[in-house]
Amino acid sequence: MSWESNVRRVVPYVAGEQPQNKNVIKLNTNENPYPPAPGVEQALRGIDCDILRKYPDPEVSGLVCALAKRHGLSKEQVFVGVGSDDVLSMSFLTFFNSQKPILFPDITYSFYDVWADLYKIPYECQPLDGQFCIRKEDYLKENGGIVIANPNAPTGVFMEVSQLEEIIRANPGSVVIVDEAYIDFGGESCVPLIEKYENLLVTQTFSKSRSMAGMRIGYAMGSEKLIGYLNDVKFSFNSYTMNDAAIIAGIASVENEEYFKAVTGKVIRTRENTKKRLAELGFTFPDSKTNFIFASHAYVPAEEIFDVLRENEIYVRHWNKPRIENYLRISIGTDEEMDAVLDFLERYLKNKKAVKH
Ligand code: PMP
Repeated sequence: MSWESNVRRVVPYVAGEQPQNKNVIKLNTNENPYPPAPGVEQALRGIDCDILRKYPDPEVSGLVCALAKRHGLSKEQVFVGVGSDDVLSMSFLTFFNSQKPILFPDITYSFYDVWADLYKIPYECQPLDGQFCIRKEDYLKENGGIVIANPNAPTGVFMEVSQLEEIIRANPGSVVIVDEAYIDFGGESCVPLIEKYENLLVTQTFSKSRSMAGMRIGYAMGSEKLIGYLNDVKFSFNSYTMNDAAIIAGIASVENEEYFKAVTGKVIRTRENTKKRLAELGFTFPDSKTNFIFASHAYVPAEEIFDVLRENEIYVRHWNKPRIENYLRISIGTDEEMDAVLDFLERYLKNKKAVKH
C-alpha cells in the first residue's frame, strides 16, 4: 500500500488571479480601490523593529479591545484571525462537529464546501430561488450548523436581518455563522442580535471596507461562550496567528471611523452609478449591497465578455458553474476605473450590434 492512500486529499479553493502587471484594471477579487486609513501607514512606519525579537501578544488584546469598543461588545465577545478565511475555517473546525449535515446556499462563497471537505463535515446545499435569494424555509430543518454570507457572494444579495433572526431562533441546537465580509457597503449587520442569541457567530474582515486585504485581518463576534470555544481551538492550533505589524495596523484602522465612512460611502456611490450604466448597456443583475455587481448580458455570453476584457487588461471574475456561468462578478473600483470599463463595454457591444446587422 502506498503512503498516498493516507493523504488527506482536498480540492483546494481557487482564489481570483493576482496579475503581476500593475497596469491592469483589477476588478476580480473585491479589493478596495482606495488606500487604508492614513494612520495605518504612519503606524507601520513607526514600528520599532526590536519588538520583532519577541512573540506577539497571543491574545491580541489591543486589536480585540479596539474592535470590541467599536461594536459595543466586551473583549470576551471578539476573536481575531488572519483574514476572515482563517476565522471561518477555525469556526468550521470548532462548531461543525456533528454527524448531521451543515447547511449553506448552493451559490455562495466557494470556500465553504472546501472547508467542509477538508474537515470531513457533511453538508447539504440549499438552492437559492430564481432571484438568487436565500429561502429562509430551507434552514428550518434538522442540521449540524448553518453558514450564510450576508450579503451573499458572488450574488451581492442582502437578506433582511429579521429573516436571518428567524433562522437563528429556530436553530438553538446549532451554531449559525453569518459571514458579513461585505456588510459595510450598505447592509444591516446582525451584530445587535448577539446579545439575544448564544448560537450566533458573526464574522467580518479588514480586506474590503478597510482596504487591507494584504494585511490579512478578520474577526468574529459572538457570545462569550462561542468565543471561548473558538479560542480553545485556536490555542490548540497556533497561539500566534496575528503578527505585530497586522495588530498595529489593524488598531490604527479601527481608530479612524471617519475615513472608514468616507471610503465605504465613495464605493457605494460608484456602485450605484455603475448599476445605472450597466443597465443601460443591457446587463441585468440582482441588486447589490456589496462592493461588486454580479451581472449577465442580454445577448453576449459572460465568457466572451470575460475573455475580451482580459485581453484588454481588465480583470473580472467568472465561474464555469451551473446557474451562474452566464454571470460576471465585477468589483467596484474608482470612478475612473469604472468609466474605463463601461466605456470599453459600450464600444464593444456597439460594434457587436453593428456586425450582427
Ligand atoms: N467571506 C466572503 C463571502 C468572501 O467573499 C471573502 C473574500 N474572498 C472572505 C470571506 C474572506 O476574506 P478575507 O479572508 O480576506 O477576510
